[in-house]
Amino acid sequence: MNVNAVLGLARAEIRAFRPYSSARMETSAVGVMLNANEMPWPNHGDTSDMNRYPEPQPSALRTRMARLYGVEPEQLLIGRGSDEAIDLLVRAFCRAGSEAILICPPTFGMYAVCAAVQGAKIVEVALDERFGLVPEQMLAACNTDVKLIFICSPNNPTGNCIPLLQIERLAAALLGRAVLVVDEAYIEFAAAPSAVSLIAKYPNVVVLRTLSKAWGLAGARIGALLAHAEIVALLRKIMPPYPVPTLSAAVALGALQDRKGMSRRIGRIRRERERLSAALIEITGVRRVLPSVANFVAVCFADAEAALKQLQAAGIAVRSLRHYPGLADALRITIGTPEQNTAVLAVLNTDDRQQRAMS
Ligand SMILES: *Cc1c(COP(=O)(O)O)cnc(C)c1O
Repeated sequence: MNVNAVLGLARAEIRAFRPYSSARMETSAVGVMLNANEMPWPNHGDTSDMNRYPEPQPSALRTRMARLYGVEPEQLLIGRGSDEAIDLLVRAFCRAGSEAILICPPTFGMYAVCAAVQGAKIVEVALDERFGLVPEQMLAACNTDVKLIFICSPNNPTGNCIPLLQIERLAAALLGRAVLVVDEAYIEFAAAPSAVSLIAKYPNVVVLRTLSKAWGLAGARIGALLAHAEIVALLRKIMPPYPVPTLSAAVALGALQDRKGMSRRIGRIRRERERLSAALIEITGVRRVLPSVANFVAVCFADAEAALKQLQAAGIAVRSLRHYPGLADALRITIGTPEQNTAVLAVLNTDDRQQRAMS
């Protein structure tokens, strides 16, 4: 099956239209640039060429990220976080009012938000009681209107990975029918194999990666979509002309030099994740700690609202999962520094002692 069958799933008008062609797309840097209505002088103290529009896809960063993830540069699209890639996919593949995405709740909220903004429908196939996929139900729910299937692995907010073999079987079953989007925002914390390896064989597989989590660059807003070059080219047509700010690209390129530092920090997060999980389950008010391979844990409480208030009162923000199906009694706690995690435990333990004293 070749990639044309996948492009055929996209909105016909998007495939057909001629995109805006920016000055920087038509001509890359030459000696005298008088084609983009820029100011010829930089501001005082500017050493970063900020008077110039950035490269639409900064080539040095693209090459480096492509090498990091194991694809060709043309198979990688840099966006403002992987959030932008989710939005582009929904807009390119789902016709408003009739076509749909398929999601498996409880999962990351942006898939449904982007679908709602586009006016696409949302088909839901819940995860099972252990938060695994139910592939037979997913395939049964995939009517011809479903264009995109979102799988989040490790899943936010549950923290578990989806086995690669299961993803591959879905990709094979969906070939020619729908695009399988695998969101790997947290995969670096998991020591699990990436679905990137499936792209060559299954042109309907799209993988999302980000520098926001493991690389510690949430403020830079750099994410990547990995797919066949033709899919990347299609999405570029509907992307704004200069999506990646010069400074963000430079900061990302710098941070990517320090792979050792990144690995060290991931090691620390993993150790803290295990320590926090083991300590949390000992607390009386804690019913369950979901086994996580990410940099957060979902924790079920006898009284989640009380635990949330207790932490809030101590100046600690965690995420309530009250609106997630099957997790109404849970909080999602991001793994912090050892001191921060110890503070979480101290607050919840104090609450625990008080409750026991009262009863
Ligand atoms: C954080 C997150 C993202 C978005 O990350 P960006 O900062 O937009 O790159 C994507 N998917 C999931 C599951 C996330 O939790």
